[in-house]
Formats: sequence, C-alpha cells, structure tokens
Amino acid sequence: MSKLELVFVPAPFVGHLVSTCNFAENLLNRDERLCITILIIRPPPPWDNRIDAYIKRSSSSPDGRRIRYVTLPQAEPPPAEELAKSIEKYFSLLIANYRPHVKEAIITNKWPDSNPKIIGLVIDMFCSAMIDVANELNIPSYLFFTSGAGFLGFLFYLSVWHDQVGREFNRSDADLKIASYAHPVPSKVLPDFASSKEGYDSFREHGVRFKETIGILINTVAEFESHAVNNLASDPELPPVYTVGFLNDLEGQKGKGNSKSEDEEIMKWLDQQPPSSVLFLCFGSVGFFEPPQLIEMAIALERSGVRFLWSIRHPVDAELSKFEEILPEGFLERTKNRGIVCGWAPQVDILAHKATGAFVSHCGWNSTVESVWHGVPIVTWPLYAEQHINAFQLVNDLEIAVELTLDYRMRESDHRENVKAEEMEKAIRCIMDCGNPMRKRIKDMGEICRNALMEGGSSSISLGRFVETILDSKSCS
Ligand code: UDP
Repeated sequence: MSKLELVFVPAPFVGHLVSTCNFAENLLNRDERLCITILIIRPPPPWDNRIDAYIKRSSSSPDGRRIRYVTLPQAEPPPAEELAKSIEKYFSLLIANYRPHVKEAIITNKWPDSNPKIIGLVIDMFCSAMIDVANELNIPSYLFFTSGAGFLGFLFYLSVWHDQVGREFNRSDADLKIASYAHPVPSKVLPDFASSKEGYDSFREHGVRFKETIGILINTVAEFESHAVNNLASDPELPPVYTVGFLNDLEGQKGKGNSKSEDEEIMKWLDQQPPSSVLFLCFGSVGFFEPPQLIEMAIALERSGVRFLWSIRHPVDAELSKFEEILPEGFLERTKNRGIVCGWAPQVDILAHKATGAFVSHCGWNSTVESVWHGVPIVTWPLYAEQHINAFQLVNDLEIAVELTLDYRMRESDHRENVKAEEMEKAIRCIMDCGNPMRKRIKDMGEICRNALMEGGSSSISLGRFVETILDSKSCS
C-alpha cells in the first residue's frame, strides 16, 4: 500500500503544537495510508523552551512509525528593532526566514522505509509565508488554525476594514461590524497588534494569504461557535472550512501518574472541597499582574468569602514566598482554610475536578476550550494577544462568561486602571451563584463539544470530509 504524506508547519509555541499534534494523530487514526511529518521551527532561547520536552513526549507515541518530527536548522532572525515594533510581525518575519529550510526538508528528508507521495502542506496561522514553498513544489496548502473561528473571521475582516479606512485601528474607533461576531465589536477589545501599523499589516497579509489555501481547518466545534463558523463556511471567497476541534489535551494527567508533588497537594485539597465551590484563577503561561493589582484581587477574594485556588506568577521573581510580602498582610493566614495560592497549576485537572465551580481566566483559546470542555463558567480577565476579543465573544455571542473586564492590557504602558476589588467581588458573586443560568449553559455546551468528536458528531464528520478530500484522486494524482 503506497503511503501519502502530509507535512505540517506549526508555529513554535507549545499551545499551537499540542493541537497540531493531536490533529495529526486523529488523521492517522482515520486512514492508514497517511503518514505525517511535523517540521519543528526552534528559534533560539528564550523562545518557548517547552517545545523540546513536548516533542520528546509525543515522539514516543504508538504511532511513531507514521508520524515524525523533523527539527529544522535555525534561520537568521529578523533585525532586533522589528521586535520592538511588533512581536507578531517579528514572529512572522522570523518564520518566513525558515522557507528555504522547509523546502529543503521536504525535498531531502526521506522516510526510512517508504517513499510517500506528499499530498499537502498544513500551515499554522503565523506561517502563511510557507504557501510560497507549497506553490514552488506544487503541493496543495491548508491552514490549520489553532484559535477560534471568530478570531479567524477578524483576520479576514482586516482587509475589509483596510479597503474602507486604509489604516490600523484606534481604540476610539466606533463599534465594528465583523461578520464572524453576532454583536458589534467595540474597538477596545481588538488584539494589541490591531493598533500597531506593523502588527496590523502583518496579520492583514496573513489573512489575505489564507485565502490561497485550498482548505481551512479550525480548532473549534461547529455548534460552539455556530455564528462564526456559518459565516466563514458561507463566504464564497474562502476555501472549504473544516471544524475539527477540540484538539487540546483535555483529560489532564489523570491516571498518567507523573504529576508533581505540588500538583498532588492541590488535587488533594480539591478533593476535600464541596462540589462546584472553588473559584479557580489562572492567567495562561505568561500572564502576570503588578503588586497593586494583586492586592485588589486578594481583597476581592477575601471579601467574597469564596473558596479559591489562585495561580499567581510574577514577571521578575516567581518565588511564591515573595507573594506573602506583596499580598495584604495576613491574607494567606486568614484564608488558609478556604484558599490556596500556587505557581504553575495543573489547569486541566483542576477544571476537570468536580469541586471547581468557576474560572477567572485570561481567555486564551486553550484555556477557553478546556473550560468549555469541562463545563466550567468563566469570568473574563483578558491580558494580551487575541484574548480580549475571545472574552467579548464568550460574554456577548456565546453567553457563557461573566464580564469582569474586557479591556485590561497586561503591558504596563497601556493597561487601563487596575480592576477594583469591588468590581471583582461582584463578578465572583455573580458567577458562583448556583442560580446563574450560565452555569447550565456551559455544562450543556461541554457535552455538545464532547459529542462532536464522537462518531457521527460534527467534528468527526468534518474530519472525515477533510480526509476524503485529501485522498481523492485530484489531490493525489
Ligand atoms: N496552563 C497550565 N497551568 C498554568 C497556566 C497555564 O496548565 O498555570 C496551561 C493551560 O491549561 C493551557 C495553556 O497552559 O493549556 C495556556 O494556553 P492559553 O491558550 O490559554 O494561553 P497562553 O498561555 O497561550 O496565553
């Protein structure tokens, strides 16, 4: 039986890699003719150093014979001044510099015992420059979008806006009619890059290039983002859209027996708490707050009387003992019977635990997906990247989150005033109220999303459609 190969180019972030690799595994399970090469871009430190560990873990998967990871040689980084202008543009330029390496890897890196025919190049949202490579080698290209359909719609909207207005956004622009959102979108919730010329141009160009692909795969569930998905699917300018999510590691460490002792402590503590009683606060892999904001948060937690599990990180000094000096005097002692403060948290396990009642989240896509999957309602506290527009969507379009803030920005220079303890206390009381209909809504949505991946579910059908398309005679001939 001759093998057919897909080559993936994910962006070098663990969050992107996880869903990419899970998608690759799902494809392999669908058809045994398929084999997959994942090309790893590994920029020099300090860029995400968890990539190696992740690949090492994944490489030992039972599908090792049909999936392989090929680390590319390092490419020349763009000039350092680009980083100061826009991190998104810097990354896009950096990744574009890997084009020759990707081409070389595709041409020269043969499988040891077979010579598969390459039937597609699957690229990440930051990797649209790789479409050039696909074109040069005459291979069809596909976009694998690791975030939501709403945000993808926003990237397409950038050129609509540009045709009308011809400039990046201001936070004072009037509300925007973006087709992938059911409600008008306030400009204050647009991603940071939308208001910098470089970031805006860079993502606008990605959006334009995505239309050159012959299929768009999204890490979402059709029923979850129905408005956005219907909108993209009915856009005649776009190639076919496949909703194949959720593709995150959603079941946590349960039964894997490799959790750290601090994680075990946390889970033991959760075991002792009543069902749905604990508020979990966690802000992604790099989210942090300055001390005055942490103090407001501590006051809110104390006043609300709620049980809590609070993951805090500090940019300069991550030692937890130091938080004792930052938090209000006596806070840790007074709340020790009903709250835990920790550093890195076993988030998926916590969200899966029956004691967890709500999640104060920065609304990164992975955190959002994990919360929905486990039916835990969200309080929004976006910090950076596309989190503000995700939070807006969760509150307004999907009605599964309580709005605490939609426009707080983590970078000190442009964040609004601190969120006050009173605002936070109000949101906590609202989300923890067991009569809040949001609680049932998100539980039901979690079930819908889990069913989507089962046989006959929307994501399973969509994946099947994609596999049929790539295997059909046209792309394979
Ligand atoms: N995460 C975790 N513990 C933490 C912080 C984050 O396990 O203390 C995980 C979380 O479960 C999610 C990922 O890190 O899978 C964060 O991804 P997301 O897209 O939400 O945010 P980002 O870190 O990209 O801003």
